[in-house]
This record gives sequence, C-alpha cells and structure tokens, in this order.
Amino acid sequence: MKRISVFCGSSPGLRSEYMLAAKQLGEAMASRSIGLVYGGASVGLMGEVARTVESLGGEVIGVIPQSLVDKEVAYRELNDLRVVGPMHERKALIADLVEGFIAMPGGLGTLEEFFEVLTWAQLGIHQKPCGLLNIAGYYDKLLDFLDYAVEQRFVKDIHRSLILVDAEPKRLLDSLVSYQPVIVDKWLDREAR
Ligand code: AMP
Repeated sequence: MKRISVFCGSSPGLRSEYMLAAKQLGEAMASRSIGLVYGGASVGLMGEVARTVESLGGEVIGVIPQSLVDKEVAYRELNDLRVVGPMHERKALIADLVEGFIAMPGGLGTLEEFFEVLTWAQLGIHQKPCGLLNIAGYYDKLLDFLDYAVEQRFVKDIHRSLILVDAEPKRLLDSLVSYQPVIVDKWLDREAR
C-alpha cells in the first residue's frame, strides 16, 4: 500500500486523545512507508497528521481548493501542495492518488468525505478499504445508527461490513493492508420485497 488518504477534523476537537491519535497514525504510516494524501490544511487533526508524517521523512500530498487556501489555513510549506479548482476536483484527485481511506474524528467535512468513498465502494466504483479510526468512542453512536439502518433494511450487512473499525491506529493500518476486497452489488437484494 503506497498511499492512504486520511479524512479528519480541521479542528483539534475537545479531547486530547484526538490530537494524540493523529500523531500516532502519522507515525505508524511513516514507519511503514505509507504516504499521506489529505486536504492540505495546517490546522486541527489534519495539520497534526501531515506534520508528523513529514517530520519523519514520509510522503505528504495536500490537495486543497483555491477557495479554501486562506480559509482553511493551507499548509503552504508542504513540498507537494496541489491547489485545485472546485471541491469535486479535490475529492477526485485524492481518491485517484490512494489505495485506501481512513477517517479519524472530524466534523461534517470528514463525514461527507468518508461516506462518499464508502458509497463508491458500495457501488463497486472502487475496491479500496475504508477504515474508521474510532478514537475515545467518538464514532460509537454513528456505528450504532448504521447497525440500526441494517436492522431496518436500508443498508445491507455486506455494505455495513465494508467499514473497518478500530480504536488503535496501527491495528487499523494492519486491517487496511490485509484487506481483501469483497465483490459487492448494491442491488443484490432487489428481488427481496
Ligand atoms: P471538518 O471535518 O468539517 O473539519 O472538515 C474536514 C475537511 O473536510 C476540510 O478540509 C474540509 O474542507 C473538507 N470538506 C468540507 N466539506 C466538504 C465536502 N462537501 N466535500 C469534501 N470535503 C469537504
């Protein structure tokens, strides 16, 4: 696995565990020579992962829309900061550059990015692993909700299981690296009414 995209908060969050985990994830990626592709900001968890990977000599590619360069405090010192046009260009480029995705705690942007790549996996547009780094139980309620969505037959079990969950950065990386893609068909159950 050459590169992973990390989606995470442009804020540091309340608990100190979040920033600590961002650092640990960066360290784990650098020690395995896995490059980071991310949104190119210097702030919050985003900045922490990027600074960590970079300081350890790993590859970091930041991809940021022009309109967010000032707003999100772009990491201008980054060796490879790619300033793109609209948000959709950012997302498409990030997805093309990586072999897997990880979401750490974050806000609406993080959720949107993660669910987009997850729905692409569900549709078979890609077969790349999607991991959720569940620090300090941040995503517990979201995972409960997804189980409820399965129970209510809006999400299939096989699609729910596309989300690799772990609270420990190294273990989550292990499961991404050893991931065997499953062939999923969103419309598998169309006959079951
Ligand atoms: P947040 O989790 O809200 O702090 O945002 C984390 C990152 O997601 C930031 O780099 C945002 O620019 C980005 N983001 C916000 N909205 C979107 C969106 N609709 N699509 C893709 N990325 C987004």
